[in-house]
Amino acid sequence: MARHLLIGRAGSPGAAVGRLLWVDAAETGQSAPDADRALDAIVEADRLRAAMAAAAVELEDLARETAGRAGEEIGAIFEAQSLFARDPGILDPALAAIATGVTAEQADLLAGVGDAYFRERAADLRDIGRRVADLLSDRTRPVLHRRDGQTAILAADDLDPSLVAAIRPELVGGIALVGGAPSGHAAIVARALGIPLVLGLGSDLARELDGRSGLLDGDAGRLVVEPAPDDLTAVPGAGSGVLGAGAGQTADRADEIVPVASPNRLGILVEANVGSIAEAELAARAGADGIGLVRTELLFLGRTVAPGLAEQRALYRRIADAMGDRPVTFRTLDVGGDKPAGFEPTGPEANPALGVRGLRLGLRREALFETQVRAILEASPERPARILLPMVSSLEELRAARSAIERAAGRARAEGATISMEIRLGVMVEVPGLALMADQIAPEVDFFSIGTNDLIQYTLAADRTNPELAELATPFQPAIIRLIGTTCRAASAHGRSVAVCGEAAADPDAAALFVGLGVGELSVSPRAIAAVHAALTGLDPATLRGAASAAEQAPTVAAVRAIAAGLRSAGSIGRRIAG
Ligand code: PEP
Ligand code: MG
Repeated sequence: MARHLLIGRAGSPGAAVGRLLWVDAAETGQSAPDADRALDAIVEADRLRAAMAAAAVELEDLARETAGRAGEEIGAIFEAQSLFARDPGILDPALAAIATGVTAEQADLLAGVGDAYFRERAADLRDIGRRVADLLSDRTRPVLHRRDGQTAILAADDLDPSLVAAIRPELVGGIALVGGAPSGHAAIVARALGIPLVLGLGSDLARELDGRSGLLDGDAGRLVVEPAPDDLTAVPGAGSGVLGAGAGQTADRADEIVPVASPNRLGILVEANVGSIAEAELAARAGADGIGLVRTELLFLGRTVAPGLAEQRALYRRIADAMGDRPVTFRTLDVGGDKPAGFEPTGPEANPALGVRGLRLGLRREALFETQVRAILEASPERPARILLPMVSSLEELRAARSAIERAAGRARAEGATISMEIRLGVMVEVPGLALMADQIAPEVDFFSIGTNDLIQYTLAADRTNPELAELATPFQPAIIRLIGTTCRAASAHGRSVAVCGEAAADPDAAALFVGLGVGELSVSPRAIAAVHAALTGLDPATLRGAASAAEQAPTVAAVRAIAAGLRSAGSIGRRIAG
């Protein structure tokens, strides 16, 4: 097959060269876990023992890997779990317990004991049980762990974000998708991990290309199949283009950052969205005013074992430390929807995006929620803890979350832990119903953070991962502008701040309109920080306010876009005058 070019959309920057490797959802276990099969298999004692041994090996690997990536303290947690998995004194009764289906009961018994040590051991028992069940149900991911030494470019219809999180960069240099959207979580995870990704390549990207060589350009949104030598030299980051040499190219690109040259003079904070320690370090180097959103779920997505208190506390501390004294906002786990978590499976749902997701799950899994809140409170006791709740739909949910947070704080204090003296609680505005109730919500929160990715999805009833709907699912929809305006007015009446942390905050035109509506903080990918400051430079508050109120009255997307374009030229005139 000769050289040919496939055009898609940029999903995550960077370049990769490698062999295309077609991935089927079924092959990767992306389909729903088959719990019954796992349970049937559990009675086969030999398989069970083998699975326990495999779990121990996996945990040793994980211990080594996390010690390297996140520090010895975190590695030690898995080291201890692997010893636990091998200990015959625990293994034998655990095997019997799992086989007769009473592990959960035993764990509940342990969990009921007052002592924290036993409660944590109960969590370990559950974790190991889940890991073993996973191994028994063949949910391993051979494709992502193949070891033939050649860098691959994964090609697929779409990828579950937990699979993206499980990618080993030494094996996979990039991802090419038939579908997908930039605000979908697969793309967000790829950006967080610095994995180049091109999406929306359509049906030209097909299984027949499996095994071909490819050059993926995540900045231009292109994939060259069977690239010529000239292609390789033309793409920055593709290096020598030696097939199989790819991983280093990705890392180089991921480190590239343009620091803020001159901050905007409007007093707007430009913060970072992060999903890893590396990204937090990048945010600090980029000159972020803080971290407006830590997507904590991205730290744990690929895992079958729920993170414990010590591990979470250590990770959050490292993220906070990376920012020095700049504020860091931790969002509680936003799993469910298109981010299913292996460690907290929800039942099958007909519409996962409308199902038990974010805080809805948190309120149903009290131990998981409270452990995370404790970890946030204990991570940096010397500073206020900023906690952000995802997918809040009602005041009742907010109140229930506040009670759970108070319980977690009380328990931490009772056990002698030092925690932040002050808690600042915020809600994500992602559900249109919440934006409409913002005047009732405002007195009971410290801040709002608007998640435009989901707010657009739920307001326009347009799946955020469906590229067909890109024209409909835009921040320039008058309905979105109105909901943001409503939220800002309610917040301002109660002296509360409003941030936007969805992808739209990095769109220069949309960002200017948001600021005109009253948004005071924009939280974006670390690489976009300098550009957002630049886009706001040259604009004055009165012009921004005028444009925003016109946009709230505009009837169509085209009309809102025209107003935003007017702001852009006002900005460039302002910059010329100032410069
Ligand atoms: C959003 O919905 O805009 C958001 C920031 O949250 P996430 O993309 O993680 O769903
Ligand atoms: Mg969201």
